[in-house]
Parts: sequence; structure tokens; C-alpha cells
Amino acid sequence: MSEFSLIQQYFTRATPSAILGVGDDAALVRVNAGMELAISTDMLVCGTHFFADADPYLLGHKTLAVNISDMAAMGAQPRWATLSLSLPEENSSWLKAFSDGFFALADAFGVELIGGDTTRGPLNLCVTIMGEVPQGQALRRDGAQPGDEIWVSGKLGDAALALAHLQGRMQLRETDFKAVESALHQPQPRVALGLALRGIAHSAIDLSDGLLSDLGHILERSNVGAELHLQTIPHSAVLSNYMNQTLGQHCVLAGGDDYELCFTAPASNHARIDHISQELNFPLSCIGNIVSGNACRVLQADGTELKLERGGYDHFA
Ligand code: ADP
Ligand code: MG
Repeated sequence: MSEFSLIQQYFTRATPSAILGVGDDAALVRVNAGMELAISTDMLVCGTHFFADADPYLLGHKTLAVNISDMAAMGAQPRWATLSLSLPEENSSWLKAFSDGFFALADAFGVELIGGDTTRGPLNLCVTIMGEVPQGQALRRDGAQPGDEIWVSGKLGDAALALAHLQGRMQLRETDFKAVESALHQPQPRVALGLALRGIAHSAIDLSDGLLSDLGHILERSNVGAELHLQTIPHSAVLSNYMNQTLGQHCVLAGGDDYELCFTAPASNHARIDHISQELNFPLSCIGNIVSGNACRVLQADGTELKLERGGYDHFA
């Protein structure tokens, strides 16, 4: 199969919201009046972000999900994506499953694939996503203020626990692994939450490298510090069995791959955020406060500070 028939067969779909989609030297899109274009790229590399034998359908899902998650974190409505692939071989069942997983999530979020690049090489998947946000309303990392409350969506740490099991660093019971596995393989981008937080949150980020590392980006960009209460950080029943060990604490605080949102908002918006949680039927937990200075302290139930060895995942650390 030629490169062009491969693109035609697996990656060409109708793109009614674009002026021009796959097939020309560039795609053409028009942003709605009053909107800014939010653009983000995330690359998944075989051996670094996923195992070579990863299920291709789930990989298609995750490749797009981690990008849509960046739109959610900006409070942007995801609209268009490009997909650049390097593939070691042309494997039609792999490509079919990968593109099915990719397009299932694209359809669920109204994202249209409008272009990309396809080459032979080590398996590498790179999406650029584009979304729209009303002028001046994006949720940025640099808006946190002392007095803000710090919130996270969903439950943290399950993906890291599933990964620890798969890497043989610990052994979960089969039923427990089944309960946490989907967090690792099928993250659900929190787009509705990001949209609801426009005008309510002062800052936001999505959790890809671990809570402390990602919250650390907000603190640095906003030039503030944080105080977190360990016992308020939401986690699953499976993870609760490990919370009195370094493993559980590490999964929740520094595990990575959560793809939940962490955001800060003035305390006066607390009730509105509880209301958003009810409307979306989805847990939002207040886990601490933004303070002046630049330290991030994690307090345990007895008020003592937890000392951690490392912050989160860093490819070059
Ligand atoms: P060019 O040689 O001009 O860069 P390509 O041959 O790389 O063009 O791509 C042909 C068309 O197919 C372009 O419109 C490009 O955006 C699209 N395309 C290539 N690979 C993919 C892919 N994996 N998914 C979606 N569109 C793709
Ligand atoms: Mg090209």
C-alpha cells in the first residue's frame, strides 16, 4: 500500500467544520468571531510513553485524549487536529484499530482530523490540536493568587498504580488491576469542566506528569506557593490500600498520566464549583490553598509536613 492510499484509507474523513481538510499542502480553517485559537502538541513515543505491544485501539484513544486534555486545561473547545505518525511497518490490522480508537474519541468530542504526516520509522505518534476560546478567557498557568483554593477533578494515582503493576514494581490482585487499568489506557479528557471553569478559575493545568510537578508549573508561573492537605487528595478504593506507604503517596502526588484538571479559584467561588461538580456529576475536590512565597508543602492528617524525594515525571531528570 502506498503512503497516499494508507492516508486515504485510515485517516481521511469528512471534515465539515474545516474549509479544507486532508489532501492539500495545508488545511484551512476559520475561527469563529471573537475567539482565540488555542494550539498544543503532544507526542507519544514507543518505549517512553507506551509499550511496543500496546493495544492499538487504546493507543489511538490515548494519543488524542492527552491532546484534548490540553484543550480542557485551557478552557478551550477542541475543534481540529493533525496527526503525524512514524510507523515501522504497514500493518493493516494495527492501523485499522489505531484509527478506530482515534476517531471514536474524535467523534465523541467533535474534533476533526484535518491533516498530518506519515513516514516510516520507529513508532512515534504526534498530534497537534487546535481549539477555540473566547478572547481573554483562556485558563492559564499564571493566574493563581494567594488565597485561592486548589482543586482537582476525579481521582488521582490509579494510572501510576496500574503502570507500577505492569512494570513489575509491585503486584496487584487481578480484580484490583482491572479496576485501575482504564485510568492508564483510557483517560477521559475533562473538556466540559474546562469550559465550565471559564470566568471561575484563576489558573488551570492538566495533570500529565504528576500533581506536584504540574501544580509546580502553576506556582512558578504565578509566583506563588501552595499548602496541600494529603488526606483531602481524592483517590480510588484500590489506591487507599497503599496510602500509608510511599508507593501510594507517590502515585497520588507524583504518579503522572492522570489527565485530570488541577485548578485554582478564589474561595468565594467554592459553592459555584461544588455546583459545577453536581451538574457534571463528577467529583471535584478542594485539596489546599495558594499561599504567598514559592514553597509547596504537603501536610499530613496530624499537621506534620510530608517530605518527598522527587516531584514528578521529568524526561530529562
Ligand atoms: P506533503 O508532501 O505536501 O507534505 P503529504 O504527502 O505529507 O503532503 O500529505 C498529504 C496529505 O495527507 C496532506 O493533506 C496531509 O496533511 C495529509 N496527511 C498525511 N498524513 C496524515 C495522517 N497520518 N493523518 C491525517 N492526514 C494526513
Ligand atoms: Mg508532508
